[in-house]
Amino acid sequence: MFGLVGKLLPHTISPFIYNKLGDPHYQVWETDDIETFIKAKNYSGLNVTIPYKEAVIPYLDELDGVAKTIKSVNTIIRRDGKLIGYNTDYYGLFKTIQYHKISIKNKKVLIIGNGGAAKTARFLMSNLRAEKITLLCRNPKTQDEQPLSSIENYSDAQIIINTTPVGMYPHNEDQLLFSLKPFHQLETVLDLIYNPLKTKLLIEAESLGINAYNGLYMLVMQAKASRELFLDDSNIDHLIAKEIYNFLNKGRHNLVLIGLPLSGKSTYSKDLSYRFQKSLIDTDHTIEKQEDLSIKDIFTQKGERYFRSLESKIVSDSYQKTNVVISTGGGMVMDSDIMLKLKQNGIVIYLDRDYHIIMDKTINNRPLIQSKADVEKLALMRIPLYKKYADIIVNVDRPKLEVIKEIEDKIYDYLSR
Ligand code: NAP
Repeated sequence: MFGLVGKLLPHTISPFIYNKLGDPHYQVWETDDIETFIKAKNYSGLNVTIPYKEAVIPYLDELDGVAKTIKSVNTIIRRDGKLIGYNTDYYGLFKTIQYHKISIKNKKVLIIGNGGAAKTARFLMSNLRAEKITLLCRNPKTQDEQPLSSIENYSDAQIIINTTPVGMYPHNEDQLLFSLKPFHQLETVLDLIYNPLKTKLLIEAESLGINAYNGLYMLVMQAKASRELFLDDSNIDHLIAKEIYNFLNKGRHNLVLIGLPLSGKSTYSKDLSYRFQKSLIDTDHTIEKQEDLSIKDIFTQKGERYFRSLESKIVSDSYQKTNVVISTGGGMVMDSDIMLKLKQNGIVIYLDRDYHIIMDKTINNRPLIQSKADVEKLALMRIPLYKKYADIIVNVDRPKLEVIKEIEDKIYDYLSR
């Protein structure tokens, strides 16, 4: 029997990955007592995760290759009565660097954290011939680890790798440990977290035009390497692992539709929900149902501020979900907190309709639009914000099927970055 051992694992997606890699019986074990668990040997092979990657080492008979060098184990095999520790995170990270075409040679690399993943990253960066590698952490333990407070001395970094769990689900709103703004030579930020798909750190990187990648590819590739060790067969087809990654990457992303009133958010969100097999959250409809009033009546009877608080609550309740289509109210874009939450798991799609076309329509159920001048005012205020937050912009002044085709193409382009 194979499985994953860690302390708290309520949301792990490892069983799904191992099922797809051919193990339908993969287990998840949570324990506070790793020593007893390892010594009981009720398993043929194990994956080890936070916080036990170093803690398991005293109970193993041998360490192999990378695990021996960096003293961090994420895979254990029982062979001929012996427990042997391996590190396949190294392979997963290496494949991630290759997949995203991140060039490391002669680069200055900052690694945030000093746990197991940080050591793996440091060893790999050294093997890939980075020019300078610095580990920054809150509790330096050796001479070559620096305190996070000294970060301003490393603002010439070209690559940053976050190996701390800061910003990881369910603590998505953790404060950033530092700002990326002083890093004028920064090319790439890699965050080993994969839930959310974009941590606040990655969202900041993207907003500064810096390449930003998460740890999902690494998760799948380290699992592939572990499964090969479990099976004692190093020939799992790379394409199978790639398909698992594609499936997870597509499935876990939300699609978030933004745009002016009457730009088609409700219509297109229904269509995308059907085509991508994702459930639908239409924030305006949800609020109307919840309050048993139309949006216009909520505005008149309870005021805009009340309406915005309902919107904010719906987003706070739903942005950590995955695999949903979210049709937003046209004014949500005015609230940066809401938009930054929606971006964590969402591909934000701006339905760009020429506002002059909207001006010519008869509008009778929109609280903030009483006249053509209102449409223009709203458009001029909001369009720059729609563009700022959008991952994908699609002109919708065309036949619906053409628009859908372009949205789909752009989503697939986005997912293959
Ligand atoms: P670990 O050994 O427990 O190390 C965690 C590191 O983060 C330690 O240096 C810890 O510092 C630091 N840290 C934790 N909370 C912090 C905070 N609030 N502020 C500053 N530093 C903080 O864990 P790990 O195995 O290296 O994993 C670390 C992260 O990488 C996790 O998020 C994990 O999910 C991710 N990871 C992803 C993959 C993948 O396949 N994508 C693989 C491995 C790891 P202290 O020692 O001071 O607490």
